[in-house]
Amino acid sequence: MAVNIVLLGPPGAGKGTQAKRLQDQFGLIQLSTGDMLRAAVAAGTPVGVKAKAIMAAGQLVPDEIVIGVIADRIAQPDARNGFILDGFPRTVPQAEALDKMLAQKGLRLDHVIEMKVDDGALVERISGRFACKKCGAGYHDRFQPPKRAGVCDNCGGTEFVRRADDNAETVKKRLDEYHAKTAPILPYYRAKGALKAVDGMAEIDAVTASLSAILRGAAGAGVRA
Ligand code: ADP
Ligand code: ADP
Ligand code: ZN
Repeated sequence: MAVNIVLLGPPGAGKGTQAKRLQDQFGLIQLSTGDMLRAAVAAGTPVGVKAKAIMAAGQLVPDEIVIGVIADRIAQPDARNGFILDGFPRTVPQAEALDKMLAQKGLRLDHVIEMKVDDGALVERISGRFACKKCGAGYHDRFQPPKRAGVCDNCGGTEFVRRADDNAETVKKRLDEYHAKTAPILPYYRAKGALKAVDGMAEIDAVTASLSAILRGAAGAGVRA
């Protein structure tokens, strides 16, 4: 079943955590523009050179750059089996560009799901976030520590990384960007009748259960936004 979904929500809402779980559970691929941009920065590509300082400042990378990145990725054959967009679209022009590129390929979005989390919870989520250096598995100091301290549950790796932009000052800027530029895409999808929402304040497993129910098309799944 090739379903295409968008996970929407502020920084730290749990999009990446849940996208990885849905990827494994439903055989979809996670397309994270944040991960793609960080890879471009690390590799020093032209996109990375343009994005680096903008990301460090907690601002949004210009639409034309991000739209180009996602268009290239969706054009790859594995995207035909269904994808989870994590962190894209983030502006109304990005949402419009996505609709256009999917229509050209005869594809559509099956579910646009908002993960609702209070601003007050996001700073703690982001400041405690870290990931395995080797496999990228995500953790949290308090909410999702590795089962054995210092050892990745997934691959046994012992080195971990924290994102340069996951600091209190940048987080505030990222939340401002979310409210000013990303939240307006909620009415865009609501008007199309495509928007659903889950309670992102719940425990990680409970959020996964709500999302899975929506993907399986279970009656009454999710709450109407
Ligand atoms: P996003 O991709 O939306 O920015 P992440 O999935 O990276 O968010 O989650 C941010 C941090 O919060 C991570 O450290 C993750 O382990 C933790 N986290 C994710 N979901 C929850 C949850 N439901 N409750 C508590 N902590 C969570
Ligand atoms: P988070 O979910 O914690 O906000 P992401 O990894 O999704 O983090 O994004 C990190 C940064 O990458 C953003 O602050 C922004 O600078 C850039 N970025 C990612 N996706 C987009 C996008 N769709 N449009 C513009 N900038 C983006
Ligand atoms: Zn690992």
